[in-house]
Amino acid sequence: MPVLDAHQRPLRNLRLSVTDRCNLRCQYCMPEADYLWLPREDILQFEEIDRLVEQFLILGVDKVRLTGGEPLLRRDLPELVARLGRKPGIKDFAMTTNAVLLAQSAADLQAAGLHRLTISLDTLQRDRFIKLARFDELSRVLAGIDAAVDAFPGFKIDTVMIRGVNDDELIPLLEFARERRAEIRFIEYMDVGGATTWSMNQVYSRHDMLAAIAAHFGPVEPVRESSSAPAERYRLTDGTVFGIIASTTEPFCKSCDRSRLTADGLWYLCLYGARGVDLRGPLRGGVSDEALRDLVTSVWRTRTDRGAEARLSQRERSPLIPVSALRRDPHLEMHTRGG
Ligand code: SAM
Ligand code: SF4
Ligand code: SF4
Repeated sequence: MPVLDAHQRPLRNLRLSVTDRCNLRCQYCMPEADYLWLPREDILQFEEIDRLVEQFLILGVDKVRLTGGEPLLRRDLPELVARLGRKPGIKDFAMTTNAVLLAQSAADLQAAGLHRLTISLDTLQRDRFIKLARFDELSRVLAGIDAAVDAFPGFKIDTVMIRGVNDDELIPLLEFARERRAEIRFIEYMDVGGATTWSMNQVYSRHDMLAAIAAHFGPVEPVRESSSAPAERYRLTDGTVFGIIASTTEPFCKSCDRSRLTADGLWYLCLYGARGVDLRGPLRGGVSDEALRDLVTSVWRTRTDRGAEARLSQRERSPLIPVSALRRDPHLEMHTRGG
């Protein structure tokens, strides 16, 4: 039985950020000119990650996702994948990547034991990609997607939909995914740390996305399922399934079983959480595995976080965290805590 939090939500889903560095600068995640990086000596070694993951598995975690920053920038990543892939406790082992470096590593990751892959893709237009991500990398991303078609059939594509930025690509992106037998999930623009240019009128809501998709393709039917996954899935009349994550207009905190471990070993109970729990200190300080598990258990039992719902109840919304605070503490950034 997994450990339950104060709202009876299980400790089940762990997102592991393996680096805070990134080779893109998406405008909704890293819009600033420069960033403060985590000190290299603080970054957890593979042995340390392995030991922490083992404790989480004993406490009930069975879903692990590698993320970042850009996880493929972490040196020898397939070695970490192989270590974790051997653990029978991990029932679902996935990674989220921007795919810039995927073409050369997809087969290795699959061979090393990664089960599933999610690729972030917000546009199919080269000029727009450069504007959105500040690097001319769309062709490498598309090559990475080609590699995923072979190595991770049925992979997912995550698209952050922003009004006035890429909302005119809702249908082309859905068709692009369908042609590759990938399941696309449209994500509402969130006001998380790092999204310093966010505004409510840029949020393209699930309600409006569904209306636009139905206007183009005809009736859209919800897929009935009882998982705690945030994506609500829908089916077109030709059988194509897609998802919409309404994390801003209809958040799913009630069933949220996710927590996040930063590359330097801080554990966050919510994307919107102000402070993380330091696990690196005790780990390097020589505490026993049992003491680490006691710490994790006692923290999770008192978890009451419902960050996105709390934000929803605020009338006047502006970006969550001011740039000055982000500059002081990189842990407040989405690219540090792992999306
Ligand atoms: N670099 C990898 C990538 O982009 O796939 C993994 C890390 S990235 C932080 C993980 C996910 O967070 C991406 O799919 C990205 O689109 C999402 N994300 C970042 N900022 C966001 C925001 N303000 N609103 C919604 N999603 C966001
Ligand atoms: Fe974009 Fe992911 Fe990098 Fe953020 S971490 S800038 S979402 S590629
Ligand atoms: Fe979970 Fe926090 Fe996101 Fe709500 S805002 S779904 S509690 S991570």
